[in-house]
Amino acid sequence: MTTETDIRRTYPAGVTIFEEGAPGDCAYVIEQGEVEISIRRDDRDVVLAHRHAGEIIGEMAIVDAALRSASVKTVTECNVLVLTRDQLQSRLSRMDPVLRMVFGVILDRFRDSLKGIRGDSQVAAPSAPIAGPGETFRSAIDRIELEQELRRGVAAGEIEFHHQPLICAASRRTIGYEALARWRHPENGLVGPGRFIPVAEETGLIHEISRLAVASAAAAAARLRREAADQRDMYISANVTPEDLCDPAFFDYVCDCLGAADLAPDGLVLEITESTLIENADQASAMLHRYRELGVGVSIDDFGAGYSNFNYLALYPFRSVKIDKSVVDQIADGEEEAASGDPDRGEKLIRAIVMMAHGLDFKVVAEGVETAQQADALGRYGCETLQGYFFGKPQLIFDHGPARTGMNWRADRSEALLLEPSGA
Ligand code: C2E
Ligand code: CA
Ligand code: CA
Repeated sequence: MTTETDIRRTYPAGVTIFEEGAPGDCAYVIEQGEVEISIRRDDRDVVLAHRHAGEIIGEMAIVDAALRSASVKTVTECNVLVLTRDQLQSRLSRMDPVLRMVFGVILDRFRDSLKGIRGDSQVAAPSAPIAGPGETFRSAIDRIELEQELRRGVAAGEIEFHHQPLICAASRRTIGYEALARWRHPENGLVGPGRFIPVAEETGLIHEISRLAVASAAAAAARLRREAADQRDMYISANVTPEDLCDPAFFDYVCDCLGAADLAPDGLVLEITESTLIENADQASAMLHRYRELGVGVSIDDFGAGYSNFNYLALYPFRSVKIDKSVVDQIADGEEEAASGDPDRGEKLIRAIVMMAHGLDFKVVAEGVETAQQADALGRYGCETLQGYFFGKPQLIFDHGPARTGMNWRADRSEALLLEPSGA
């Protein structure tokens, strides 16, 4: 009766696609045609609605694993696209837990209303929660709490920035710092960015954090430069999102911060990960040229992690690329050399990145440098700047005053400024 492929089916007019009370194992997107949805009441079919091309049917039983709450019959010949339970469930499992809970509640209420219309002739099987029982609720609550806490914490000035030294590969001197966000929570202590940056990104709070990062970096760099003659070229790099970079109001904010701190633009670098730049190519290109003109460098972070798109790099005026730790980790040393298939793989990859970057006039920074061998090798491969635990972990070199106002120097900061060459 039906012609079937794995994902597409054609039903003639007047056939039942699925029946009320049956278990459901797929949903259908109508590509062409019309169906009617009906329920059984007092032994008669009551038509509830008609659905047309572009609409979805049969999704409810897939979402909550209850039985079909209505029948669907074709009115005209229909072409449908089949969505399997796995396809829907994998999408649901990636959904924000709060939305998932809202979704589940709406579905439950809808099924309750249907029961009312039906006069409850059929006892519906209890629907399974979208995720495991209790799990959705718990994670939804945790999530809401974390969001509210973070919003409060950001407003209360609890975000602070720790600074990790950036080292000149040739002289082994500290030439700047990367500012890395930490949340000083009044009860939970110091919370790392892995815990709160993803929440900040999803709620939009990240843009406030970007602004804090830039303001703090500009103020800190200005202090470093004023502090000593040999620190006059120091810079601080702050992590911002590609959306910030593409936002003209954010550009104005950056200018304001430079002005307020009385800092030359080359004292500030912005780090972004490449991901969404390509989506807004025109806007990104225009803004990157404005930053270039202003003199604030923009660096591509995490280069070589995941899928790096070499193609677009040439389009934009970046200051530098930062080679990801996962690439630096591939520099073979000692016994590990034997284990990996190609002991030169890390070297080849890094030399290739360096050659490309230099060809485009970008500087190369390597992060996640943990050993002397890596530091020496990266210098030989042509990386200008090194960063990693081998030279120093992120640390608090400023004491934060109340609510993002003054930052005072810590007396013990000075040792961090000059590091001896690894060989010494
Ligand atoms: P990222 O921007 O790639 O920062 C580098 C991360 O690697 C930092 O982790 C740093 O502490 C760590 N790291 C540096 N050297 C080494 C090393 O030798 N070994 C190892 N194992 N790790 C090293 P952290 O501070 O936990 O930050 C993690 C990520 O959180 C950052 O990755 C960045 O993506 C994000 N993040 C931190 N602060 C901010 C911020 O102010 N704004 C935004 N948008 N993201 C931030
Ligand atoms: Ca970074
Ligand atoms: Ca990075």
